[in-house]
Amino acid sequence: MKKQVDTNKLLRQHLEMESFFVGDFTLKGDMPEQQEVSDMKQSLEAIEKTVKSCRKCEIANSRLNAVPGQGNPKARLMFVGEAPGADEDKQGLAFIGRAGKLLTDIIIAMGLTRDEVFIGNILKCRPPGNRDPKLDEIDNCWPYLKHQLEIIQPEIIVALGAHAARTLLDTKEAIGKLRGRFHEYRYSDEVEPAKLMPTYHPAYLLRNYSYDNRKRVWEDMTKVLKELGLPIPKKK
Ligand code: URA
Repeated sequence: MKKQVDTNKLLRQHLEMESFFVGDFTLKGDMPEQQEVSDMKQSLEAIEKTVKSCRKCEIANSRLNAVPGQGNPKARLMFVGEAPGADEDKQGLAFIGRAGKLLTDIIIAMGLTRDEVFIGNILKCRPPGNRDPKLDEIDNCWPYLKHQLEIIQPEIIVALGAHAARTLLDTKEAIGKLRGRFHEYRYSDEVEPAKLMPTYHPAYLLRNYSYDNRKRVWEDMTKVLKELGLPIPKKK
């Protein structure tokens, strides 16, 4: 007797084969969390290595250490400052001097830790005497920060002070006008833009430690917490 062809069975087998080779067997789709973090760490380390050997500007000759920035590769929140100062230059770490201590206090007041966020700068080398960054130095250094931002893709970027805010937003507007409201930082057309909150630089705050200025910065940070869906700790 002629065996009847079971077309349903054949079709099922074909679909299973296709799912094996094209569906289940593909490397597309969500990567395991651990793999993703380790890939991000590697990419950030590659930038660090390039930054540490960078000689594009003259300030590379006077630095003790380049300061690539540090923190959580999966940070939802990233702080961007201006440039390393003397303490940062000595240790190769961002925001560890007096302004850094105030930034740490702000982060803690937000109910967060430095390990949960990423902290970087526009310039990776200390300008002599802490002078303002020059335009050509910003241009030379910008690709490093841009690349770090592309890897981490934080939901929110806090720009600390005029230089960070103006560079990230490509504007000449004063920090007093920019702060207090969200702007957009675009990664690319394919990725959701980050929200960018400009606020006063901690070093400015130390020099102008008035109640009003502290209140302004705290108000900016409460907006950031709200946007992240995080609770706002009560201020003492
Ligand atoms: N000021 C900055 O802008 N960045 C630092 O890392 C330290 C001080």
